[in-house]
Amino acid sequence: MKYIVALDQGTTSSRALLIDENGKLKGIQQKEFKQIYPKQGWVEHDPNEILSTQIQVFEELVSSISPEDIISIGITNQRETTVIWDSETGKPLYNAIVWQDKRTSNICDQMKKDELESYVKENTGLVIDSYFSATKIKWIIDNVEGVKSKIKENKVLFGTIDSWLIYNITSFNNHVTDYTNASRTMIYNIKKLEWDNELLNYLEIPKSILPRVINSSSEFGHFTYKGIKIPINGVAGDQQAALFGQACFEDGMVKNTYGTGCFLLMNTGKNFKLSNNGLISTLACSFDNKPNYALEGSVFIAGAAIQWLRDSLKIINKASDTEKIALSIEKLEDIYVVPAFAGLGAPYWDMYSRGAIFGLTRDTGKEHIIKATLESLAYQTKDIIDVMEKDSGLKLTSLKVDGGACMNNYLMQFQSDLLDSEVNRPEIIETTAMGAGYLAGLKSNIWDKDQIIKNQKIDRSFNSKIGKMEREMMYNGWKKAVNRTFNWIEK
Ligand code: ADP
Repeated sequence: MKYIVALDQGTTSSRALLIDENGKLKGIQQKEFKQIYPKQGWVEHDPNEILSTQIQVFEELVSSISPEDIISIGITNQRETTVIWDSETGKPLYNAIVWQDKRTSNICDQMKKDELESYVKENTGLVIDSYFSATKIKWIIDNVEGVKSKIKENKVLFGTIDSWLIYNITSFNNHVTDYTNASRTMIYNIKKLEWDNELLNYLEIPKSILPRVINSSSEFGHFTYKGIKIPINGVAGDQQAALFGQACFEDGMVKNTYGTGCFLLMNTGKNFKLSNNGLISTLACSFDNKPNYALEGSVFIAGAAIQWLRDSLKIINKASDTEKIALSIEKLEDIYVVPAFAGLGAPYWDMYSRGAIFGLTRDTGKEHIIKATLESLAYQTKDIIDVMEKDSGLKLTSLKVDGGACMNNYLMQFQSDLLDSEVNRPEIIETTAMGAGYLAGLKSNIWDKDQIIKNQKIDRSFNSKIGKMEREMMYNGWKKAVNRTFNWIEK
């Protein structure tokens, strides 16, 4: 048997997964690494620890197979996180600044003052935010001693985590990234498919430090392991890898990951669509040399609301209890929990909104609050899908789900009822790693599109069991509730 290895470099852990030629998952290794919080709002990782844990899990994973049997490697990674290193020694010049890090908010404010918002949106598909790599790169260049002088000597390189890993495991031979990761930097022009000169000039980021950008399924270099050269043939940022891993290959196909937050991506094919409702446009994986486009929306508080029930309210013991409890009581009448704990994202974009519970009566019990909190994941998902349909002009055909909370059958049935669409949960919910594996396997010619589609085994399909009127009544109630949380803390 021959294998593909998927490296899944996440925000809290490095993982390696073994996929056999038949597309079956045969093993997983995982190692957590340190989260570094130097100041409030700052989040860093040690790039060397990212690299060492990633290599360790790889070695543990393949210890029982011969390196000759590894066909190729696929990489998927936490997106936007920024590393700057010395090209000669391969040593990082600063810790990795993680996507969650807010230290560059002031640079973003300045960009907005300088009226760059529409330029950024039209050319990178993004909204100006410290989340993306651009201002993190600028911060390192401007604030870390020695970086500027090293740039003059042409000894500095930038990369997102994929690039950083590839540079090291190819023995400093390849400084590359893929379209999906480049599209999260806020300096990559996703219309022209090149680094954006205007933004580079504005931020004073030299082009010499940037990686070459290639298609997600292509040759990224070789990792020499025990004397065997193993090609790296697939790379994609985590959400795009999941979209591909779920075989969302056609226009209008959507996946939703129900984790701490929700991440929704809709494949919009070869058309660059701009959102009028606060979604972002990004590059997705494809089967040819040109990437596809996707619309992306996220819900800030999804599984985190379930954690709130457990850790703050202490009314459940574990997240999965919510399913049983939701099923144990009758359908809710006008009770809604709006978990706007950190304001509201798309499509509302109200930073001053805060969480609220509506519709309490004398007989409301904790079960009702638990059920309504669980349902809020589905309502927030519908909010985003509605605008995705509007922005793209494409109708949702089916929703493919993954992430921890997709195991909740009550939630999935409720989601299907609310969307009036089929909701499909795959057997293998490791869709991110599978996506990276598929990209590598495609380039290595062991799979084709049809085989990937055939490999999608559905664990369970949910279909709507309610009528239009009931659906509209439920959703109108949600909209009313959300509207009442607007501007709650505005002075
Ligand atoms: P992340 O990758 O963001 O850490 P996961 O995909 O591991 O998240 O999903 C974990 C999240 O999903 C947690 O926030 C948890 O509260 C929630 N969750 C996990 N299982 C269930 C369940 N059966 N029902 C509802 N929520 C769940």
